[in-house]
Amino acid sequence: MGSKKELTQILEDSLKNNQNYYKQGELPNYIPTLAKADPKAVGISMVDVEGDFYSAGDFETNFTIQSVSKPLVLILAILDNGTELVFDKVGVEPTGDPFNSIIKLTGFAKPYNPMINAGAIAVTSMIKGKDNEEKFDRILKFFRRLAKNDELELDQETYLSEKDTGDRNRSLAYYMRDQDIIEGDIEEIVDLYFKQCSIKVNCIDLANMAVILANQGIDPVTEERIIPKKIARIVRTLMATCGMYDKSGSFAIEVGLAAKSGVGGGIMAEVPERFGIGVYGPTLDDKGNSIVGMRVLKELSEKLNLSIF
Ligand code: GLU
Repeated sequence: MGSKKELTQILEDSLKNNQNYYKQGELPNYIPTLAKADPKAVGISMVDVEGDFYSAGDFETNFTIQSVSKPLVLILAILDNGTELVFDKVGVEPTGDPFNSIIKLTGFAKPYNPMINAGAIAVTSMIKGKDNEEKFDRILKFFRRLAKNDELELDQETYLSEKDTGDRNRSLAYYMRDQDIIEGDIEEIVDLYFKQCSIKVNCIDLANMAVILANQGIDPVTEERIIPKKIARIVRTLMATCGMYDKSGSFAIEVGLAAKSGVGGGIMAEVPERFGIGVYGPTLDDKGNSIVGMRVLKELSEKLNLSIF
């Protein structure tokens, strides 16, 4: 596929070719701290299954993981409870609706999938631990292990900002408790969800996490199995079908990768048996996906023939 230098050049070119599209998106202001990001920032890291890294741009800039946390907490919830119990409470079908929609919750037995807020909150409610502190500690440690970065931490300001403005998420959670989909203290459940979304990462962290998925659950460097193969397959499939919200269909056509976006501007994508990718650009399209991030992935998919379809 070419030398390390060539691939790094391709990454640099794709950032340069797409950076200006940041103007077509907007910084999210419904979580006030996210609106403070530098709208022009753009970065990418790729790690291959041999453990070699390729990066360009602002790949070391920190941003909050937001919804990229959803597939990761899903893995932990399945490890804690088993596949059957988790999918008894949350479905596996795309919605075609916005990420925080309440529409398909009313009148249905369970949230459509774990990649939208309702489903993710239900998944978070299943994380085991004696109290919220222990539960969050388990999530953080799991993320650190996947990212191979012991320095991952909570962004306190974003967490407080989400807590302050998170009434839509509270509504989803209260409604789900009324419908017996979830149980327990709603303020604690959404608090844990706000915290998982507010963990700070960079592109390298996302690439490291994704390459484990790309390698079917095995850390390519240590060769340790981190995620059972079957769980890795379920999560990758849900990323491919629902990971880009109500743009998942066109993203599948244009890019063709299992990916998960977050309103912090990050996208985590995996190329089976080849690469983990983390890309960052904080302005978002109307669906909540990084504008530049998606464009960069499209260009790379075309140039490097990455689509799984
Ligand atoms: N914390 C955000 C929310 O719940 C996550 C949404 C996202 O990243 O798409 O609204």
